[in-house]
Amino acid sequence: MQIQIAEYAGFCYGVKRATQILDDVIEKSVKSEQILAYTLGPIIHNQHVTQYYEKKGIKVIENIQDFIDNRRDSEKLIIRSHGAPKRVYDMAAQYGIPLIDATCPYVKKIQNTVSSYHLKGYNIIVVGDSSHPEVIGINGWCDDQATIIKTLSDIEKIEETAKPTCIVAQTTFNIGLWEKIVDELSKILLNSIVKNTICLATTQRQDACKTLAANVDLMIVVGDRHSSNTKKLVEVCSDVVKTIHIETKDDLNVSKLIGNVKIGVTAGASTPDWIIQSVILKIENEGEVFFDGKS
Ligand code: SF4
Repeated sequence: MQIQIAEYAGFCYGVKRATQILDDVIEKSVKSEQILAYTLGPIIHNQHVTQYYEKKGIKVIENIQDFIDNRRDSEKLIIRSHGAPKRVYDMAAQYGIPLIDATCPYVKKIQNTVSSYHLKGYNIIVVGDSSHPEVIGINGWCDDQATIIKTLSDIEKIEETAKPTCIVAQTTFNIGLWEKIVDELSKILLNSIVKNTICLATTQRQDACKTLAANVDLMIVVGDRHSSNTKKLVEVCSDVVKTIHIETKDDLNVSKLIGNVKIGVTAGASTPDWIIQSVILKIENEGEVFFDGKS
């Protein structure tokens, strides 16, 4: 049995930056306080990471009104890596709440783009998942006026028009599907500006896992079930080879790997190293028992 790890796997720039911001809050705070800060929604999509920070005094709160109603002066409010709608910043300013902004700079750039094109009178289309916090946040920078499409069939919602339109993507969208959707949209939107805002970390991870998947018997994708970029890696790998999606080593039944000589491993951008390493260790240690030297 051989284990190969994708060239790009695990924490991306934006996630490292967001967790570093939390580490700084913890380091600078008075240790006796039980709650140091709240993040507006999970800081990243990995429940093991949020549980780790919860023990250190950083809790998750789902809306800013709850924070306003219950806050103590010393507690801070942190914007998650996926960003937040403009109205959150407006409310914070109105109530004098200092924000710590952990929005990934790539997401911030999309927010600025849709805001400026919306102000210029453009229609906005976001290619992504309407229920994902990043997309909800982006839409909140163009007065919630964006049309959000996720599939080729969603294009039926769009009418042919010469009105200027700006098209952006959720940072973690499937690259192949984005290209197909943009091709179709350009046939009916006669005056559109296309901004490919899929971030480099997503492109690198999807390309690397596709290459690896073509050279192994089975792929294991490690990442939280709520993580959009992890789900995209599962989609990309599944198109090429049999693929298993797990959150941690506990989800992995090593006996199910029997019959596969080459195992590829990749991980979503919000999966910490310690989880990836524990999966690899489990395959190496328990794999020997099941494979009994036959690999
Ligand atoms: S996947 Fe890209 S956009 Fe999302 S946090 Fe990472 S670097 Fe930022």
